[in-house]
Amino acid sequence: MAKTYDPFKNVQDVMTKAMEIGHIDTTMFEIIKNPQRETKVYLPVEMDDGTVKVFEGYRVQHSNIRGPFKGGIRYHQDCTLSEVKALATWMSLKCAVANIPYGGAKGGIKVDPSTLSKRELRNLTRRYTFAIAPIIGADTDIPAPDVNTNAQTMAWVLDTYSQLKGKPCPGVVTGKPVELGGSRGRNSATGRGVVISTKLILKKKDKTLANTRVAIQGMGNVGSNAAKIFYHRNACVVAISDISGGLYCADGLNIDAICDFMEDTGKLLKDYNADGVSHISNEEVLACDCDVLVPAALENQITADNANDLKCSIIVEAANGPTTEEADAILEKRGITVVPDIFANSGGVIVSYFEWVQNIQELTWERNQVNEMLENLMKKSFEDIMDVVEECSCTCRMAAYIVALRKLVYAENIKGIFP
Ligand code: GLU
Repeated sequence: MAKTYDPFKNVQDVMTKAMEIGHIDTTMFEIIKNPQRETKVYLPVEMDDGTVKVFEGYRVQHSNIRGPFKGGIRYHQDCTLSEVKALATWMSLKCAVANIPYGGAKGGIKVDPSTLSKRELRNLTRRYTFAIAPIIGADTDIPAPDVNTNAQTMAWVLDTYSQLKGKPCPGVVTGKPVELGGSRGRNSATGRGVVISTKLILKKKDKTLANTRVAIQGMGNVGSNAAKIFYHRNACVVAISDISGGLYCADGLNIDAICDFMEDTGKLLKDYNADGVSHISNEEVLACDCDVLVPAALENQITADNANDLKCSIIVEAANGPTTEEADAILEKRGITVVPDIFANSGGVIVSYFEWVQNIQELTWERNQVNEMLENLMKKSFEDIMDVVEECSCTCRMAAYIVALRKLVYAENIKGIFP
């Protein structure tokens, strides 16, 4: 039976192990292993029926040693402070691996957004922004979309913050609509980065995307964009899933048709039917016969309970923290390569960085330029990770953590401790 899962303890344990394997001086680790600031806010919202509900929200600022705090905001009924602390820590590590000048943060509200009307959701978002306004800003902490939030949510955050400041402040959030200063290519950037990561690891194994069998858990922003790009690069997407269940087709699913169906009808995968396509469970998607498994949902999906059932040879972590530490050990023993979240899903924050740079410089870049720069940056950080895999004879996850922690420790050391 798997242990009770505490995401923050998970990331702290993995960091501790990486410090050892990478022979990193631990003096400054005391600072890095905990967040700099945790903010908890209570958010009253007048509901459509006239009642008042109070929601709990968080913003955890893990580190700003390498640049302003950076990270998304998620809306989820199971969101906890421990989860947000873990996610904030992963952001610091992710930005360090990508070598972009940001620290790490994350926000969240404990809410199931599907139970709220658009007006309620907008008011909740505005109240949350108001509550965290004193600690965010274009040069202090820059939110972005995450699970169940999107460009519309960012437009509300941006407007609320700009109203408070009495001027447009486009650089306070990334992932906003292009019309409000968002970057071309940002919406699909995380999914695109997942495909780039997959291509890079396949190349390392002398393989290509063409005909590689891919299974994707989750059809949110990341999963659906990755699925579309895989499909258009001639990978064979054999399985996908959403909250309603999964679809499987050994010859490959028609991703364009499925995405059109979901967008046009607003329906879930359980309602999709086509010749040769069978309905399977979420667990069966994880364990299906494929080459590359892409968990693109939430944390704690690949655990000690199912790690032995997986049939893939590569896992590309599109979600943050989908694999537990115990599962990681099993996967390593089984020889399954894991491309870790802090690299595999870094495409989102990398293009967030491009968006922020465009905002500060009052420039707009073309989509091709953004995509090309994204690919170049990810190639470079993949090489850095592979160098450490060789140097320390370790897994890709350990290597990515070592690359990140070396940068964070170096920055802490050279700065020293205040006062
Ligand atoms: N929420 C995304 C992540 O987990 C993007 C964060 C950002 O762009 O700041 O990486």
